Amino acid sequence: MIQPLATAPTRPGLMGLDDALSQLRVHALRLEGIDTVATFEADGRVLAQDVVSALQVPPQDNSSMDGYAVRCADVMKVGVVLSVMQRIPAGQQGTALKPGEAARIFTGASIPPGADAVVMQEDTQVVSDDDAQAIPQVLVQVVPQPGQWIRRSGEDVSRGDIVLRRGARLKPTSLGLAASIGLSELQVSRKPRVALFSTGDELVMPGDVAPADMKPGAIYNSNRFFLRALLHRLGCEVSDLGIVPDSRDLTVAALKRAADHHDLILTSGGVSVGEEDHIKPAVQSLGQLDLWQIGMKPGKPFAYGQVHREGHMGKAHFMGLPGNPVSSLVTFLLLVRPFILQMQGAHDHEPARVMLPAHFDVPKADRRREFLRVRRNARGGLDLFPNQSSGVLTSTVWGDGLIDNPAGETIQNGDLVTYISFADLLS
Ligand code: AMP
Ligand code: MG
Repeated sequence: MIQPLATAPTRPGLMGLDDALSQLRVHALRLEGIDTVATFEADGRVLAQDVVSALQVPPQDNSSMDGYAVRCADVMKVGVVLSVMQRIPAGQQGTALKPGEAARIFTGASIPPGADAVVMQEDTQVVSDDDAQAIPQVLVQVVPQPGQWIRRSGEDVSRGDIVLRRGARLKPTSLGLAASIGLSELQVSRKPRVALFSTGDELVMPGDVAPADMKPGAIYNSNRFFLRALLHRLGCEVSDLGIVPDSRDLTVAALKRAADHHDLILTSGGVSVGEEDHIKPAVQSLGQLDLWQIGMKPGKPFAYGQVHREGHMGKAHFMGLPGNPVSSLVTFLLLVRPFILQMQGAHDHEPARVMLPAHFDVPKADRRREFLRVRRNARGGLDLFPNQSSGVLTSTVWGDGLIDNPAGETIQNGDLVTYISFADLLS
């Protein structure tokens, strides 16, 4: 009996995406091992320890303007003239300011003792004197407020502050912050070791065969390129095992080889139910398949399992992605990415989910939860790529994100839909 769509969110036999994700969370145990890396090299890595500051940033009160350090008590009205007794460039320390004195000061220079404000040079005038030997004088054309144009010691970081937390994914600005407290090295989770291979007798590598010489039925291996790049972005060490033909024996051999020395085996293609799909029986013969077939579109054939290592203890995780490029991409972003980040102990890696108006219609509901390739437009809404076929990789370059559309739901122009940006998913 066909059930009404609204009450049958997934087809019988298909596991819901959220169920699959919670099962995967149980398997994605944190990897043992910590690397000490140069702060310069730490972009994208996951911190293995809290980072605590041993100093104040800025270390001293300093000027945020080029101008004059003054004592407010001396400048209670406009037009006061002060003697400029010292000059303090950035990196130098001044001496105490006495009543009636000002110090010429530059951005980043320490505030001399006694001074409690900086007057920017635009609000002053140098009083010229013909006598070259005379002490320079400055006319102050404003009444300064105590504290003005002074950056306080510790206003960025206080001694003892945790500036970056264990589990944080380091980004360029985190590296700057770590450097600002004097750290040239950071402790990060070790890189997950991932073996990657593509399956399919039709696959040809760009460079091996020129476009004009492609045999009928042959296609270029595109998945290998974006999967490898995505793995690198997620801080993985990748062993690219190339293309494995559609043969049960060769697939078993490739999996055996991949299980050694790797934490995760990632494959694309050959994971459906056709006679030429050898991945699943091969994984089952070497280990186990824990989940397979997800109620999502694209990406239904996704599989997760484990492959036992020969000779020694342990097993490698296995994740099989569908061969269709968009299915491969979407399952990587939604299922593999969080798994790899969790293995490194990363927290806060969920992409933001934003409600935005659809500027298009999807009149036909799908039985599966659907991820549509869309792009934000200048009117604050979303445009849909016209061809949502799972083979059309153009949609993923044209688009800047995905709509997460629940199973059984149509979309009408103006409806608020859940948008996830590729910027969040690709980082
Ligand atoms: P499969 O999952 O092996 O049944 O493949 C599904 C579709 O994706 C087929 O049209 C394949 O030719 C295509 N495909 C499989 N692997 C790749 C790949 N690495 N790059 C591009 N297309 C692929
Ligand atoms: Mg295939």
